[in-house]
Amino acid sequence: MDNDKFTILISNDDGIYAKGINVLYETIAKRYPSVYVVAPDRNQSAASHCLTIEYPIRVQPLPQTNFIAVRGTPTDSVYLAVNELINPMPKVVLSGINEGPNLGDDVIYSGTVAAATTGRWLGLPAVAISLCGRNNYDTAAFFALKILTNLSTCPMPSNQILNVNVPDIPLSEIKGIKITRLGTRAASDSVIKALDPRGKTVYWVGPQGKAVDCAEDTDFFAVRNGYVSVTPLHIDLTSYRVLDELSSWANHL
Ligand code: MN
Repeated sequence: MDNDKFTILISNDDGIYAKGINVLYETIAKRYPSVYVVAPDRNQSAASHCLTIEYPIRVQPLPQTNFIAVRGTPTDSVYLAVNELINPMPKVVLSGINEGPNLGDDVIYSGTVAAATTGRWLGLPAVAISLCGRNNYDTAAFFALKILTNLSTCPMPSNQILNVNVPDIPLSEIKGIKITRLGTRAASDSVIKALDPRGKTVYWVGPQGKAVDCAEDTDFFAVRNGYVSVTPLHIDLTSYRVLDELSSWANHL
């Protein structure tokens, strides 16, 4: 495919000034001339698929060419970028590089994954890329470029996104790539209570729960063992396993 015509949208939930999104832009723009960054003007991590419908959404082009800050969520950003702001329409959406992992149940809350799935809903192939830390962004950028190059020549099955998690280690220490399923975490149960300067109680949501299902075929296992984890995700949350059982249960209603 002709790289000149391959317009790429980059977004993420850490905000447009975050290091990860800028490293990703620099890496991708070296190879592809038509790259846009449209992302929230502040950190919106854990925003999931939040859409702003109660207020108007303002956008601000930044001095850096092709960068547009959105006073909204990651989902707002991709929705506006694809439907309105970027011409011609992007061919692919990259979301990242996120600071911190999006493993197992994290994908439900993740704004990084939501930006990718919004791209997918709008008909575009999409990849979410997270670094399991905050140091080796170059390692994650290397694999983002590799995956993008593969996508541009070898399209993915439709209705999927790829959720990529990269261990926070130098590239030379990466053992390879594993295709994985999502593991699971224990529920987060720590609420952190504090006092504000005026003596009122405030609360912080505590850290994520520890990995519970981290079997060999999971994303958790892959990154812990030095592999890049690539999990295909789709958005149909239907529990097909219990459809029949639930029909019998519903007969008693
Ligand atoms: Mn984030």
